[in-house]
Amino acid sequence: MPKNEGRNRSEEKNRPEEKSLWRKCPACDEIIYDKELKENLWVCPKCQGYFRLNAGERLHMLVEEKSFRETITRPPSFDHLGFPGYAAKTANLSASDAIVAGTASIGKHEVVIAVMDFEFMGGSMGSVVGDKVAMAAEAALKSRRPLIVVSSSGGARMQEGIISLMQMAKASAAIARLDEAGVLFISIMADPTAGGVSASYAMLGDVNIAERGALICFAGPRVIEETIKQKLPDGFQRAEFLEEHGMVDIVSDRKSLKGILIKLLDILDFS
Ligand SMILES: [Zn+2]
Repeated sequence: MPKNEGRNRSEEKNRPEEKSLWRKCPACDEIIYDKELKENLWVCPKCQGYFRLNAGERLHMLVEEKSFRETITRPPSFDHLGFPGYAAKTANLSASDAIVAGTASIGKHEVVIAVMDFEFMGGSMGSVVGDKVAMAAEAALKSRRPLIVVSSSGGARMQEGIISLMQMAKASAAIARLDEAGVLFISIMADPTAGGVSASYAMLGDVNIAERGALICFAGPRVIEETIKQKLPDGFQRAEFLEEHGMVDIVSDRKSLKGILIKLLDILDFS
């Protein structure tokens, strides 16, 4: 069983930005000391803007220290379309593909957790992502531990064509089996959660939580505006807008997220 704290060697190798001690805030352009940013859960201390988190950073902020074990792994995606450059690209990126999955503790609760990684090809959902979500649901079903999935994805992975769309059904069916068995599933949507991920497991939580300001949509706002030739309302498809319209249950700021998760587990985890 591989021991992993949400980060593996190939990820380290391919994160040149982590070698820098400073990062630039995408919202206000301030240069911030990396350590300060980490202590502030990757929230800009100047403008309170959110940095997108990779899977390791997300696990760091959500689960108890050193409790994560990457127990759910898959071989790399099979390049069945022979998509130009795809095999080389995935071979050069993290072995975890766009999702890291395993077991961890959150508060006093043992959970199965899968965290998507937007840094891996925009968090796109190919066969490895679909498999690992389904496997995480199966592990939760078998152990009757709550399942937590943190989504951050541009949607289905075009390099895998129709196979990527099939993942929606596979993952949703696995989540449905959890539902029938009465095992808790909490979905957390980070910026952005789009396309086939928003249209499948990300929206199927017993509780759906969105991080403040996150874009959560099927087609993005630009595509919709260009199609309907109309200006969209302010905040359209953002977490708060979805909460107002009953599409998500809770909007959480980043610092409150773990506390909310523990409260929900205290109330709803019967394992
Ligand atoms: Zn900022």
